Amino acid sequence: MGDMDRGSKPAVLVTGGAGYIGAHTAKALHEQGFFPVVYDDLSSGFREAVRWGEFVHGDIRDARALGETIEAHAIKAVIHFAGLIEVGRSVVRPDLFWDINVGGTMSLLSAIRERGVDRLVFSSSAAVYGQGGRGPLETIPEAAPKAPASPYGDTKLACEWMIAAECRAYGLSAVALRYFNAAGADPSGQIGEAHEPETHLIPLAIAAAIGRGPALTVFGTDYDTPDGTCLRDYIHVNDLAAAHVAALNVELPAGRFEAANVGVGQGRSVLQVVEAVARAVGRPVPHAIGARRAGDPASLVADPGYVRELLGWSAQCSDLDRIVADALRWEAQPAYSTGGRAAGPTARTQPQ
Ligand code: UDP
Repeated sequence: MGDMDRGSKPAVLVTGGAGYIGAHTAKALHEQGFFPVVYDDLSSGFREAVRWGEFVHGDIRDARALGETIEAHAIKAVIHFAGLIEVGRSVVRPDLFWDINVGGTMSLLSAIRERGVDRLVFSSSAAVYGQGGRGPLETIPEAAPKAPASPYGDTKLACEWMIAAECRAYGLSAVALRYFNAAGADPSGQIGEAHEPETHLIPLAIAAAIGRGPALTVFGTDYDTPDGTCLRDYIHVNDLAAAHVAALNVELPAGRFEAANVGVGQGRSVLQVVEAVARAVGRPVPHAIGARRAGDPASLVADPGYVRELLGWSAQCSDLDRIVADALRWEAQPAYSTGGRAAGPTARTQPQ
């Protein structure tokens, strides 16, 4: 595909569009009449996941390349996903997270300021909240205290501050979407979740159940929650993608910064997910009980009231059984894989 297919469609720059949520959003943009221009360095994304619009290989810290891309494709708006996402890694390599997440956002802001782009949608995270003093069954409104439990969460919060100030100073309008637990895959089988290493509950539980991975470890059963395991708000990646399109389309005055939780508003425990995977696969999920994982809050469940008000958006396909069924379809037959990257540096030197 190339600009030939573009016609009069408004072009949207999708940084990190070769990644999991970015690729699903690029598809949603295409379906809604936009022309996605994916900008990605493929450090964790996949070229095979870029199937709609145009692909530009580039580093998010390269303001000049970003500016040239914005100009070359007459970009009208930017959705900014590019960044590092592993909470655990952020604890041991905070420097990388500040450099890529915060430094990258700074470069992007300078590029869009110079080229007069006036709408930005930013990938933020429920990690900006941490557990704070919240009870395990309380949902989280946007005004809840911000107490990130990891450098990852710190960098997302710092980016929000930077973007909010940019809006006030230069008239940009921006929406930060604070994601809860993205899961599932597009039912087409064209794109899905592929992380290296995979650390997320649903893919790991499926891998264990279909015999493609080791038994799952349930990280802690002594939390102050109904069954003792952590509660999370799992949202279908296509619902999340739709929220980005809504955030692009919403009318906002110049200079306005908004932050909204994107979740369903329902907490599911680790054991409930394990049961859902067992139902979908038709076999129990081999699992063992392990220790708590550092940095895991007992519960992260969105209050989705504000996002409904702001964007007119609510989850449509985030029933847990549907999420798991779509994830299972993908895990059983991924259209691309982590390949040599999955096995680490030594694998890269092996013949393909
Ligand atoms: N979890 C688990 N075993 C695993 C991976 C995750 O018990 O192998 C738990 C984790 O402690 C958390 C929930 O599953 O309570 C969701 O974790 P995930 O890594 O999928 O997402 P996160 O909430 O960290 O963004």
